Amino acid sequence: MSLPFDVAAVRADFPILETEIDGRPLVYLDSGATSQKPRVVLEAEREFLEQANSAVHRGAHTLAAEATELFEDARVTVADFVGAEPEQLVWTSGATAGLNLVAGSLGYRGDLQIREGDEIVVTEAEHHANLIPWQELAARTGARLRHIPVREDGMLDLHAAAELIGERTKVVAFPHVSNVLGIVNPVAKLVTLARGVGALTVLDACQSAPHLRLDLPASGVDLAVFSGHKVYGPYGIGALWGRDEVLEALPPFTTGGSMITTVTLDRAEYLPPPQRFEPGTQPVSQAVALAAAVRWLGEHDLDAAHAHEAALEKRLREGLRSIDGIRLLGDTDAAERVALQAFEVQGVHAHDVGQFLDARGVAVRVGHHCAQPLHRRFGMTASVRASAAIHTTEDEIDTLLDAVSGVRGFFG
Ligand code: PLP
Repeated sequence: MSLPFDVAAVRADFPILETEIDGRPLVYLDSGATSQKPRVVLEAEREFLEQANSAVHRGAHTLAAEATELFEDARVTVADFVGAEPEQLVWTSGATAGLNLVAGSLGYRGDLQIREGDEIVVTEAEHHANLIPWQELAARTGARLRHIPVREDGMLDLHAAAELIGERTKVVAFPHVSNVLGIVNPVAKLVTLARGVGALTVLDACQSAPHLRLDLPASGVDLAVFSGHKVYGPYGIGALWGRDEVLEALPPFTTGGSMITTVTLDRAEYLPPPQRFEPGTQPVSQAVALAAAVRWLGEHDLDAAHAHEAALEKRLREGLRSIDGIRLLGDTDAAERVALQAFEVQGVHAHDVGQFLDARGVAVRVGHHCAQPLHRRFGMTASVRASAAIHTTEDEIDTLLDAVSGVRGFFG
């Protein structure tokens, strides 16, 4: 049974939203960087640590069995959140770790190994987490890294994509939603291009997981990552999802305890996925709390929540557009979007804008948002980014817009 969508009730679940900044209510518009955590998430982690904490997959005692059950139940819940089976979900410390795992694993052996002359395709709109691991892989193997350009309106240039994805392409890695533009990329089209040449697809779902209903197996991609702290969960946890046959074909990347069947002094035999990719002590309390986060999210009427966020997105983008001297990055009505928008206040440095807004209680992100190439593409080094969440209100968007309207007058 889902709850009717009531933003005031949603907000009441987040203790931090009661914070004041210099006597003004906090307007938290930095959820794209990290989401706030509902009380149930904080409680789930604390409860686990107080009542069930123990090493998982080891030990014959009652507490160890209980901890293992909670940990593996969390895997079922989080896998279900992205439409997947639990065996397809590998815990990682975050999206960055998941992408490094994939790029690292593709780099040294196995049927999917990247070799000299192969091509890896990314986009110009990558977060550095989905760019640098591929740069390193290319440098290590002699593969060539290519990129799909971003058009002036922020959309990917699919004509260029069709030309550069070819028979040498072995991997196409791209963001589901850009963390700067807020634009939802055409997953199906990119998957079709990649599949046409037998290339693997890797989806960075960090910025879509909090806002869109995900069905990763149905999306057609082969591998995907997301991070827990952006979907109302704790830090230090994320997941890599992969198709059975792809995970099966990937060799382990990091190695150690808890991922093996037999070890001799000379060699090791590995467990099947997902354990094959989970050496060492796992983020157990974080997994349990992430499961609480996605359960909490799933208790709401998600269609209504998405409609609420879509209204915020429209208000934000149209409001910013109507202010003199504002340039939006990725200014188009043609794309599907989430409520996240980067912009420049012409003539004022993004950091100054951030401070001006902070003095009015409004928290936004300023800088390059770990997307330097994309900023360079738009001829800038930094921008201001406002990103909303399920708890954001229209009044909060208006507070941001009012404050942004005053920036140029202030810095004159
Ligand atoms: N990819 C995108 C699109 C992101 O927005 C982020 C975080 O900002 C990451 C990857 C990296 O995620 P994490 O820092 O949780 O590893």
